[in-house]
Amino acid sequence: AKDSGKNKFKFYCSNLNDKIQEEFILENNLRYALDKNEFFINYQPIFDVNTEKIVGMEALLRWKHIKLGIIPPSKFIPIAESSGLITKIGNWVLKNACIHAKKFHDLGIDVFISVNVSVNQLKEGNFARSILKIIKETGIDPKYLDLEITESISMENIDYIRDVLNKIKDLKVNISMDDFGTGYSSLAQLKNLCISKLKIDSSFIKDIYIDSNSTAIVSAIIAMAKNLNIEVIAEGVETKDQFEFLKEHGCEMVQGYLFSPPVDENSIRKLIENQY
Ligand code: C2E
Ligand code: CA
Ligand code: CA
Ligand code: CA
Repeated sequence: AKDSGKNKFKFYCSNLNDKIQEEFILENNLRYALDKNEFFINYQPIFDVNTEKIVGMEALLRWKHIKLGIIPPSKFIPIAESSGLITKIGNWVLKNACIHAKKFHDLGIDVFISVNVSVNQLKEGNFARSILKIIKETGIDPKYLDLEITESISMENIDYIRDVLNKIKDLKVNISMDDFGTGYSSLAQLKNLCISKLKIDSSFIKDIYIDSNSTAIVSAIIAMAKNLNIEVIAEGVETKDQFEFLKEHGCEMVQGYLFSPPVDENSIRKLIENQY
């Protein structure tokens, strides 16, 4: 019995080492990923609930390492954040997503592009200025650009964050609250931060027909957002039932596997062109 206890400890230790080592390897490779062209962006279409047409798309970053293969963002984004690499990587995503969206706009297709922004990017001194630079370089009309921030952002350094968000609003860029419902911000705070869209976290959508709390939360969020003039996007919509529920309760937009997973630039172009 003593022996097995000892082994367990060893096992735990080596697991911990594996994890640290993995992060170390990923961080070292992440440093060169931009220069080695290992990043690409997938786009997930966002649909209008009533017309069932694509009105926007979310840019989702992908990393394909020549030896390590595809590494999911859930693994490398936290490392990009802790290592400080997120600023450069985030700017790359913003610029390329705007370039892709501008191609659609030039064809007369008015879809908005939604880009995820980490709290570390916002905290970096020149964030609003780098957004302005990207708008100028790509020629995108800022009213088609949405920045997705998460709720946790709005809690810490609230005054500073509000300042940055106001500067961004002055550029006519929109702010979306991502993963809504998982953090602590209230709807009143959303108004205070000039949020124009909120995205209901997929965990609530998943449970709409399973957990009566989720049913109540989702319908309450939609109703209150309406009163505040904030548009609602439901994330992670996978079933027809979930879609019907959201439609009945007045949710404006949906995103999820029911309609389309994230796809590459050419595929989303085809999806959009086919609906005209
Ligand atoms: P998120 O912003 O909440 O993005 C939604 C995630 O849900 C995406 O995962 C998407 O592929 C997935 N998804 C979409 N529809 C469905 C569905 O119907 N069912 C289920 N189960 N999942 C669905 P992904 O692409 O792996 O991204 C994970 C997270 O990584 C994102 O969560 C976001 O927080 C972060 N991320 C991705 N790209 C970027 C980026 O460029 N910058 C930053 N800062 N974070 C990013
Ligand atoms: Ca997002
Ligand atoms: Ca989300
Ligand atoms: Ca999420």
